[in-house]
Amino acid sequence: MIPFIDLTRQHAALRAELLAAAARVLDSSQFILGGEGKALESELAALCGVRHGIGVASGTDALRLTIAALDVGPGDEVITPALSFVASATTIVMAGATPVFVDVDPRTYALDVAAAARAITPRTRAIMPVHLYGHPAPMDRVVELARDRGLAVIEDAAQAVGGAWRDRPVGAWGDAACLSFYPTKNLGACGDAGMVVTARDDVAERLRRLRHHGDTGRYQHVELGYCSRLDEMQAALLRVKLKHLAAWTEARRRIAARYRAALAGSPLELPNEAPEARHVYHLFTVRHSQRDALAKTLADRGVGTAVYYPGTVPDQPVFGGGDGRWPEARRAVREVLSLPCFAELSDDEVETVAATVRDVCARL
Ligand SMILES: *Cc1c(COP(=O)(O)O)cnc(C)c1O
Repeated sequence: MIPFIDLTRQHAALRAELLAAAARVLDSSQFILGGEGKALESELAALCGVRHGIGVASGTDALRLTIAALDVGPGDEVITPALSFVASATTIVMAGATPVFVDVDPRTYALDVAAAARAITPRTRAIMPVHLYGHPAPMDRVVELARDRGLAVIEDAAQAVGGAWRDRPVGAWGDAACLSFYPTKNLGACGDAGMVVTARDDVAERLRRLRHHGDTGRYQHVELGYCSRLDEMQAALLRVKLKHLAAWTEARRRIAARYRAALAGSPLELPNEAPEARHVYHLFTVRHSQRDALAKTLADRGVGTAVYYPGTVPDQPVFGGGDGRWPEARRAVREVLSLPCFAELSDDEVETVAATVRDVCARL
């Protein structure tokens, strides 16, 4: 049995370090907005090549607070891809603004920049590219489009911490970028946590206020804020893991290379990596026209897989969906399948997955 993901392997390897970090927080008994969170914010800001990190309670809150911090609200439109996790768009609605969905590039699953340009209206205020599966969106083109039209750029970097586009880190391109430390992400907490990274002093200051009841520091509540902090326990655990992130990313990239070699010439469409991209392989996502049959047979033969995502965002009942737009996103949700790809997966397991996939494909 080869699991799609197994976090127990990572936690077994780091058990002593994680327990020591948790004990440090317990002994200090400072749980909210203390030194661990501050240190993690600096460490991640440095990794992303920007000045500020603002820890929040989840990746979803990172998006929600960032949209608010950029003053995007009722009457405004935000352009976002039709293929993503639902929170990319629900957070736009929560801010009172309207998501405008655009199709994705079928090779990289990033938002189609030409489609984004066509979707701009006088109400458009921001573009939210998503670095889906860990493959960075074409940020030079997104930023150029946004600059020409006076729009803000919010990177949904929940799946791509440590990635880069044209040698510039994910997170350094937009007005702000949103990270998720959901446990199964490349850098996962032991619970919910998220962060916004930004080069903009004004946005950072606003976010620090928004995450803490609109407080400027002395119980001066200058605006309606939220209660959304990244707590000290999660920050301490994340700092232990962050030291390993570069090695884990290398391991994921090696696994991807091994899959590519072992699956070359099979009927699967393998993930593309644009020459400008440093892909962090949050997911190794292949395509096949008989995806459901492939997934079921693999499960029967002991190989775990997952589908990200079984439907487009605009087709979710909460958004109504319904018409024939976003053909590439719609085709993707019928064909994509993610294979096991996590740092602790052994070479033998990768070879077994690939051999099983080839065998199953040959019989479909
Ligand atoms: C995980 C994820 C989020 C939300 O992050 P949470 O920490 O789960 O709230 C948002 N966008 C994308 C693309 C994600 O993968």
